[in-house]
Amino acid sequence: MLGVALFSLLTAWFFCLPDTLFNTPSSTVILDASGQLLAAQIAPDGQWRFNSEDSVPSKFEQCILIYEDRDFYSHLGIDFSALARAFWQNIRNQSIVSGASTISMQTMRMARNKRKRTYWQKSIEIAWALRAELKYTKAEILKLYCANAPFGGNVVGLETASWRYYDKPSKELSWAESAALAVLPNAPGMIFPGRNPAEFLRKRNSLLLRLQKLEIIDNQTYELALLEPLPSAPLPLPIHSHHLLSEATKSQNGKLIHTSIRIDYQKEASRIVESRLLELNKNKIYNAAILISNTATGEVLAYIGNGLISSSNGLANDMIQTPRSSGSILKPFLYGAMLESAAITPRSLIPDIPTQYAGFAPKNYDEEYDGVVPAEEALARSLNIPAVHMLKDYGIPLFHKKLKDIGLTTLSFPPSHYGLSLILGGAEVKLWDLVNAYRAIGSRLLVSNENQLYSHLHYEATKDLKTSAYSFSKSVSWSMLEAMALVNRPEERASWELFGGQQKIAWKTGTSYGFRDAWAVGVSPKFTVGVWVGNASGEGRPGITGLNAAAPILFDVFNSLPSSDWFKAPVSELASVDLCVNSGMRASKNCASIAKYEIPKECLKTSSCTYCYVEHLDQTRRFRVNTNCYPQGEIIHESRFELPPLQAWFYRQKTAFYKEKAPWHPNCNNQTETQAIQLIYPRNHSSIFIPRELNGVQENVVLKAAHFRRDAQIHWHLNDEYLGITQNFHHMEIQVPEGKYLLTLIDELGLEHAQWIVIRER
Ligand SMILES: [Zn+2]
Repeated sequence: MLGVALFSLLTAWFFCLPDTLFNTPSSTVILDASGQLLAAQIAPDGQWRFNSEDSVPSKFEQCILIYEDRDFYSHLGIDFSALARAFWQNIRNQSIVSGASTISMQTMRMARNKRKRTYWQKSIEIAWALRAELKYTKAEILKLYCANAPFGGNVVGLETASWRYYDKPSKELSWAESAALAVLPNAPGMIFPGRNPAEFLRKRNSLLLRLQKLEIIDNQTYELALLEPLPSAPLPLPIHSHHLLSEATKSQNGKLIHTSIRIDYQKEASRIVESRLLELNKNKIYNAAILISNTATGEVLAYIGNGLISSSNGLANDMIQTPRSSGSILKPFLYGAMLESAAITPRSLIPDIPTQYAGFAPKNYDEEYDGVVPAEEALARSLNIPAVHMLKDYGIPLFHKKLKDIGLTTLSFPPSHYGLSLILGGAEVKLWDLVNAYRAIGSRLLVSNENQLYSHLHYEATKDLKTSAYSFSKSVSWSMLEAMALVNRPEERASWELFGGQQKIAWKTGTSYGFRDAWAVGVSPKFTVGVWVGNASGEGRPGITGLNAAAPILFDVFNSLPSSDWFKAPVSELASVDLCVNSGMRASKNCASIAKYEIPKECLKTSSCTYCYVEHLDQTRRFRVNTNCYPQGEIIHESRFELPPLQAWFYRQKTAFYKEKAPWHPNCNNQTETQAIQLIYPRNHSSIFIPRELNGVQENVVLKAAHFRRDAQIHWHLNDEYLGITQNFHHMEIQVPEGKYLLTLIDELGLEHAQWIVIRER
């Protein structure tokens, strides 16, 4: 009978412990790469309670054990002699005055969350403590104790207390700090100002004295420790990454999250964005985001989702994850895609002429035209018209796919929705995706490991790095970076020389339509940095341009980071090739001016020069001839680089070296070109009178032309000014003062008609 009872009792005891001792919710806590606290979110029960993965730091362990439970490592969960002594004292005083609780028993009391101290409760605590000693190691019990002990108010656990009272992790606590925290769980109320500072100080100092007597600390440490002040009310916790915290709270509530963030970079980036925003705020520009990543690994090193001065302007919006209009920021990817498909070399000429596609008439930022521009220069200067020509050549659906392949996740519409504007800001992108895609270009030249090559941006160490993201080849990546490092006249043609500093950086800016979004992304072998500036509300402001608003922040950030050398050229992936200096295409036998260039191997498949041909001239080299009108033996054969006339017309304005096409020799005057364009008004040699209204206000003069093809386009030029383009009905209104003007009409095939016109007052 007794045996059965004993067995039942033992069984009950054996199963008395719940599976998990503590079911209390925890704070979501974000740590930087070195374990520094970035931000924390209070637990749902209103307590600050941090999970801690580290073991209890040695200083605090010694303090708490000496203060609470000196025999912790030798007893079995309860201290029999202390218990007997306490029991005797309690009987004498007829109340419970002495707890004699071991750390194990206190831990069990905290787990049971029972306030009442009765003999019955105490018995259960003892049973649990004995049982817990079998289930857990001493280190585990101590850790449970430290994680759940009260430290005043809603501060629960050592790690929380360490941050809230001393602003540091517990492993960095001094002896005086450890001692002060060690006396708190027993009387957590002492901490509050005005409560009982004298008692608090006495308890701490007496613990320090015991440490000194036991020779755990030397005399000097003891004397100095006494001089350290007590902590006062809890400090506010740092919020160095508000948006990362809210992101983490959504997905990993209550977890302790180790991130790749560097707190020093995070703080510095915050400081930069705040000081720049102080200036931008005067122009009603309120929001900015910065993302800094490690180019080789994709680790996010700083994450400022929205740096802002006043919290009334959209604090909730994480602008790193918000899709916004891309402006010119996608142009490098088109350049890369065309190199890769052997459509161009870096030096290939791209048209830069007035252009109209189905009602879409792109303009360069400065509204000027160069006629033609080498592809890499068009990218460095962020010219819009060449970009549109490139996209038309490459194909919108193909480029749309390429953008998805490199990791842009926000192209939610089919290619036809975007059309050619895809390259000029028609698409929306997230700063996160953008930095990821730019980073991949640099990373390509740094890593050979496949996993790293296809790694994605990530801020948590545990995240899977491998993705299927596409990446450009080494040689193409190199050419993209080199073109972006040219930065010789970005889209605004402003004082770009102010930027850059010592180190070479590949960078690109973007400005969205209506001045709503300013972008700047830069890549060095160490860092890839992305910046967005604008209003989260979407309100456009004239100052929101990539160069004026985003680039200064980008360069502040780069200047604050350790600098690095430039990428190493992937020599074995490049080919040293003869290119035509004029056309940038692979040299043909007709090209007169040839030079060696290092180009991606992919470009070996590009076609050879189509601009150069052999011109047949007379002995003076001034006239064009052929064997019908000139002695064959005297004809001089000379190489000539010729652009289509419309391109040539603009090219001539900017380039002194363009050699005009020679006119036909007088003996060859039967060789006239068909006249495709004819001026209807004014007719040959007639003058135009300036029309005026009755009140004398000048009205427009309407010039009229005709083309022998019905649907031809005509580009109108008056002296050196481009007037515009007409189709079908070729009427052009002008308003000019009296004078003589050279009117030049060029159709889309390059056929040209030039004529002097006279405009007079009546
Ligand atoms: Zn050539």
